[in-house]
Amino acid sequence: MSEFYSDRTRSDRKCQYCKSCFKARAKERYKGDKEKYKSWGSKNYRKVKREVMDAYGGVCQCCGEARIEFLTLDHINQDGAEHRRNTDPNTSCTGYNFYLRLRREGFPDWGLQVLCANCNTAKGAYGECPHVTERKLAAQE
Ligand SMILES: [Zn+2]
Ligand SMILES: [Zn+2]
Repeated sequence: MSEFYSDRTRSDRKCQYCKSCFKARAKERYKGDKEKYKSWGSKNYRKVKREVMDAYGGVCQCCGEARIEFLTLDHINQDGAEHRRNTDPNTSCTGYNFYLRLRREGFPDWGLQVLCANCNTAKGAYGECPHVTERKLAAQE
């Protein structure tokens, strides 16, 4: 019996590196992704996201983009310290589960604002969205 177990352990360990198992794992992952995409498209996801976005402003706080597909949540202060205190560090600040959690907790004030994907990405990559830069320049004139 014990030999059986040690054999199994050995073959399992070998399996981690063998091609067919790697493929099988990749396939599992793909299946998981597909589930994720399905939840993205689901009516319930859209409904919950709508509620969350409305609670935090409803439109992009930078450019006014209102299409729900473009909207994301962003930390006003980029450190996200408040958020980290309140949430599991492994939880991202987007996604269905996070939206559900916000709803469950009554849309808490965690320094979140609505930004569209463009503004959010630009802010993340450059520290400031070009819209903001343009507005500052315009105000100077
Ligand atoms: Zn925007
Ligand atoms: Zn912007």
